[in-house]
Amino acid sequence: MSDEREIELLAGVPDGLFIDGVWRAAADGATLDVVDPATGDVVKTIASASVADGVAALDAADAAFPAWAATPARERAEILRRAFDLLQERKEDFALLMTIEMGKPLAEARGEVAYGGEFLRWFSEEAVRANGRYGANPEGTGRMIVTQHPVGPCFLITPWNFPLAMATRKIAPALAAGCTVVIKPAALTPLTTLAFAKLLEDAGLPAGVVNVVTTASSGPMSDAIIADPRLRKLSFTGSTPVGVSLLEKAAKGVLRTSMELGGNAPFIVFDDADLDKAVDGAIAAKFRNIGQACTAANRFIVHRAVADEFARRVTERVESFRAGRGTEEGVVIGPLIDDKAVAKTGQLVADAVERGATLRTGGAEIDRPGSFFAATVLSDVRPGSEILREEIFGPVLAIVPFDDEDDAVRIANDTEYGLVSYVYTESLSRGQRMIERLQTGMMGLNVGVVSNAAAPFGGWKMSGLGREGGAEGIHEYLQTKYTLTANPFA
Ligand code: NAP
Repeated sequence: MSDEREIELLAGVPDGLFIDGVWRAAADGATLDVVDPATGDVVKTIASASVADGVAALDAADAAFPAWAATPARERAEILRRAFDLLQERKEDFALLMTIEMGKPLAEARGEVAYGGEFLRWFSEEAVRANGRYGANPEGTGRMIVTQHPVGPCFLITPWNFPLAMATRKIAPALAAGCTVVIKPAALTPLTTLAFAKLLEDAGLPAGVVNVVTTASSGPMSDAIIADPRLRKLSFTGSTPVGVSLLEKAAKGVLRTSMELGGNAPFIVFDDADLDKAVDGAIAAKFRNIGQACTAANRFIVHRAVADEFARRVTERVESFRAGRGTEEGVVIGPLIDDKAVAKTGQLVADAVERGATLRTGGAEIDRPGSFFAATVLSDVRPGSEILREEIFGPVLAIVPFDDEDDAVRIANDTEYGLVSYVYTESLSRGQRMIERLQTGMMGLNVGVVSNAAAPFGGWKMSGLGREGGAEGIHEYLQTKYTLTANPFA
C-alpha cells in the first residue's frame, strides 16, 4: 500500500458484519480478503457471513420493520438528508476507498460520490410525497381510498462496478418508503458499503433498519434469505444470468423484485451528427469506469460515410489516455476488476479480429502489476462477432458501419438486452423517430451519459424489471391498498 492516508482510511473502515446495529465477526469466524486490482495487494480482511449470519440479519430487519414503518416520513427523510450531508463531508474518503477497492480513477470516483449522494437527497424529498388518493366510485355508491404501505423487509444485492451508487440507489428509496433492509455487496468491493453503513449509523439510523452482510459465499446465504417467508422484496443489480436464477428463486415466495441487469448499448452516429460532439459522447459512454458500466456503449453503429473519420478521431483520443493506478494524476485507464476480466476482454478482441475487424489501437493487456487492458479501438467489426452479442465490460470501442436508418435500427435492436441507447443526429425528426423505434429503457440523444437520481433508471427485455430513481423509484418499495367505504351521504 502506497501512503499513510490510505492506511489510515482503510483502518477506519469497519471489518465486521453490521447486524442489528452491532459490528461483529461472522458466527463461524470466516473472513474474506479485499484486493486492490491495480496492485494485486490485499488491502483489508473482513468478516465473511455464513448462512446463519444472513438469517440473523433478516431477523434484525424483520424486528426493526414495524417501528421504522411507523416512523413519520419526515423523520425518515431527515435521516436520509443527514446521510447526504455527511457524505459531502466524507466525499474524499469515499472516493479514495472506491479507487482502492475497485480501481476507477479518482476523478470518476468523486463523480460517483456526487451521483450516489443524490439518491439520498432525492429520496429524502420523495419520502414525504408517497401519497395515495381518495375519490368516488363511478356508481357514486361509495368512496375509494388508495393508500401506500412499505412492502416489508428487503434484500438488496449490489455489484462491484459502482460500489456506492448501487447501494444508495436501493437503500435510499427503501428507507424513504419505510422498509428495512439486508444488503449484500459484491465480495470484490465490500468496503464502501461497510463505510456507508457506518455513515448511516452516524446519521442516527436506528439499529436493524440497515444490516450489511459481506460474504465470500453469496449463493447459500442469499438462498436462505430469499427462501425465508419474512422477506418481501428482492432488489438485485448485476449480470442477467444471476438475475434470472434469483428471479426463479424469488418466484417461490412471490416476492416483489427489481432487477437491474446487463446491457449491450448501441451508440448510433448518423451522417448528419455533429462529429465533435459524437466523439466526446463516445469517449464518455465507452471509457467511463474503464468500460465496466451496464450503461457502457457496447456497439458503435456509425454511418458508413463518417465511419472512417469517426474511427480516426476516437483512436487519436484513445491513444492519449494514460493507464495506471486510479490515484495517479491524469489516469483514465485504471485496472479492470480482476484477471478474469482481462482475459475475457482479450478473447472478445481476438474473436473480432479473427472475423475481420481492423485493430486501430490497443488490443492487449498491459504488462504491469494488476489487471490492466489497453484502451482499444476496433473498426469494421463483422456481424456474428461475439463482441456484438456480449457485454464487453472493458475499454474496447467496437465500430460497425451501417448504410441507412432502417439498417441502424435493425442492428441496434438485434440484442436480447434493452437498457440504454445513444443516438447522435442533428435532425429533430430523426431523433424523434429513434425515440419511438429503439427497444430501450433509456436513451441519450446527443449525450453520452444519462444517469441521474431524478430519472427512472432501468431496462427493457433481458436488461431488467422495475425502475430505480425518479418519481418511480420509491414505488418499488411500496405496496398499494385499496379500501371501499360507503357513500357518507347515503
Ligand atoms: P454478478 O456476478 O451478477 O454479481 C452481482 C451481485 O450478485 C454481486 O453482489 C454478487 O456477489 C452477487 N451474486 C452472484 N451470484 C449470486 C448468487 N448465486 N446468489 C446471490 N448473489 C449472487 O455481476 P457483477 O459482475 O458483479 O456486475 C456486473 C454486471 O452487473 C454486468 O452485467 C452489469 O451490466 C450489471 N449492472 C447492471 C446495472 C443496471 O443498473 N442495470 C448496474 C450496474 C451493473 P459475489 O460477486 O460476491 O458473489
